Amino acid sequence: MARPPGVSELTLKGCTRCGACVDSCPETILRLAPDGVMLNPEAGECTFCGKCAASCPETVFAEIVFVDNDHMAHEMGHVMQISARCFVEAGISCMTCRDACPQEAISMKPRVGGPFLPLLDAAACTGCAACSSVCPAGAIDAVRKDVSYA
Ligand code: SF4
Ligand code: SF4
Ligand code: SF4
Repeated sequence: MARPPGVSELTLKGCTRCGACVDSCPETILRLAPDGVMLNPEAGECTFCGKCAASCPETVFAEIVFVDNDHMAHEMGHVMQISARCFVEAGISCMTCRDACPQEAISMKPRVGGPFLPLLDAAACTGCAACSSVCPAGAIDAVRKDVSYA
């Protein structure tokens, strides 16, 4: 499950599900899961504005690193992974995720006999969810960083 920036599975244990972070997010991408705050990768893009961390009365965002007064480090516990649900797998051309990525982490690989294939560079991905929120196939999932991307 995806979490907002600055939240680890360890710090999440301090979440009381008060909802302050959910209410503070200008992109409305945070939800309350049974075990605490989660980021819905299909709802929109995290801009790393830091408002969620600033609103939390607990220490749930303890892993946060601020790069300036208004922004958190581009770092989350997940990255995105493109699944076989991608339209390209069905022979339908699409480059929506590539165009949406602010990190240019998705490239399109030419193929013989089929549309270009999207390739996601996990090392460049911040987990912002700009791609998954616009994917018309709902084909981009959040995976923990310790999962193999092969
Ligand atoms: S950093 Fe900003 S956009 Fe991202 S989840 Fe927190 S409040 Fe929302
Ligand atoms: S936006 Fe979705 S359907 Fe389109 S290329 Fe990317 S993963 Fe495939
Ligand atoms: S691939 Fe790009 S748009 Fe998608 S989550 Fe990673 S950085 Fe954001």
